Amino acid sequence: MSDLRPLLASVFGFSDFRPGQAEIVEAVAGGEDVLAIMPTGGGKSLCYQLPAISRNAVTLVVSPLIALMRDQVRALRAAGVSAGHLTSANTEEETEEVFDAIDRGDLRLLYIAPERLAAGGTERLLRRAGVGMIAVDEAHCVSQWGHDFRPDYLRIGALRETLGCQITAFTATADAETRAEIVERLFGGREPRTFLQGFDRPNLTLAFQPKNQPRRQLLDYAVARKGRSGIIYAASRNKTEVLAQALREAGVPAISYHAGMEPDDRREAEARFQTEDGLVVVATIAFGMGVDKPDIRYVLHADLPKSIESYYQEIGRAGRDGDPAETLTLYGPDDIRLRRAQIEEGLASPERKQADHARLNTLLALAEAPVCRRQTLLAYFGEVLAEPCGNCDLCLEKPETFDATEAARKALSTVFRAEEWFGAGHLIDILLGEETEKVTARGHERLSTFGIGREFSRKQWQTIFRQLMALDLVRPDPARHNALRLTEAARPVLKGEQSLTLRKDSLTRRDAKRPKVE
Ligand code: ADP
Ligand code: ZN
Repeated sequence: MSDLRPLLASVFGFSDFRPGQAEIVEAVAGGEDVLAIMPTGGGKSLCYQLPAISRNAVTLVVSPLIALMRDQVRALRAAGVSAGHLTSANTEEETEEVFDAIDRGDLRLLYIAPERLAAGGTERLLRRAGVGMIAVDEAHCVSQWGHDFRPDYLRIGALRETLGCQITAFTATADAETRAEIVERLFGGREPRTFLQGFDRPNLTLAFQPKNQPRRQLLDYAVARKGRSGIIYAASRNKTEVLAQALREAGVPAISYHAGMEPDDRREAEARFQTEDGLVVVATIAFGMGVDKPDIRYVLHADLPKSIESYYQEIGRAGRDGDPAETLTLYGPDDIRLRRAQIEEGLASPERKQADHARLNTLLALAEAPVCRRQTLLAYFGEVLAEPCGNCDLCLEKPETFDATEAARKALSTVFRAEEWFGAGHLIDILLGEETEKVTARGHERLSTFGIGREFSRKQWQTIFRQLMALDLVRPDPARHNALRLTEAARPVLKGEQSLTLRKDSLTRRDAKRPKVE
């Protein structure tokens, strides 16, 4: 199983599995007949593509949508995977290519339209190709009662008998009747290994806090939960050691864990965490894969995770026993810059970098979300939660919001007028009308936005800029020393065509309560 992770990274460019994918991939790669029901957008294709790529046989993918098949084949080929499709829309050349690849014996994925199954010669071709697995996409199309019924899907069961190979089926339709029909018609009535995936983990409390006094926030949190098992994720090896030490000094039993430790020390740390009650492990993301402790009561991210997938997977280690468990993620502008820089400095293609930025954006949007975090999170995984969850920080304590349309226009227009060459600090100086050396040196006191933002404090402007960054209206450009630049999404706001609601302040409660000393 773990051996497919490198392939996940090298072929698909994903650092982690989506919720539920790992288990399904493991079963599929292990040769089991599998029925997987996952929400739309959950990442079903990968569950058969990854095992298909790793084995020395053809995987036949039956899919009802020609356009989708073409897209997937194109994407797989771009990633260096031998894939092809047989549909009624094939050009002669495309079909020739498929035959050639079959003859060469190097075809890994063959997408086929259901009506092709009825065509003469198809069975012979598939016997020759050496099909190791049939993967049925949109498997509910085999159900007569659904509105997507495809009569040709009924041929799949017989084809499987003829080829005598493994069969796997994927759908987002979860009702019991459809499921029973799928089992009857595709699996010949033999119960497959079934995965029914919903992404919600209602026993996990979700919370985010901007870093304010990060060390204090973290220590207060852990001290208040002394006696409970927890994982604290930190971004660097050194930090895990420093924080574990600080926790011990504060009276919380803690150990550190990272990939740089000797294997023996790592095993010992894992064993201690597994068996000792109330131990906290401060770890890099190297910790967790092999951990199966059901009663982890909290997961605290001392730094922003690298993507929304990583976030979900890491918080998911808490509360596996189903009892209430807490999660908290701390984040600050430095995290955002670090993660952006890591993406930019990576070796990925420009398209992939773009996609990685987008994945980071969704995590930032979750961090700065004005409404229920669970709704935001599940929406990203394609699941709709009808009501606010009542178990996230935003449900438990409604954040104050304000109409930030005007403020955002002032901020964005300052970015624009300063020609997208400056960071938030300098831009805020301009908005506040501060005649700093840098401002006068650039003649920025003559900009029309100079001093038009005095209704907010510096701290408030910082919050506003951070939220604009989270919403991806502005993005730091590493090629310009992280100067803020406008994205396409900024245009309608800048032009006054779109209004914007932001959170009033994301100061921590501790700060809000502290008496003001001027
Ligand atoms: P489904 O068929 O379940 O609706 P897809 O297989 O089309 O979903 O995947 C939905 C999206 O999720 C795709 O853009 C895919 O690239 C992305 N995706 C799938 N697996 C992962 C992963 N492990 N990490 C990040 N993105 C993923
Ligand atoms: Zn909520």
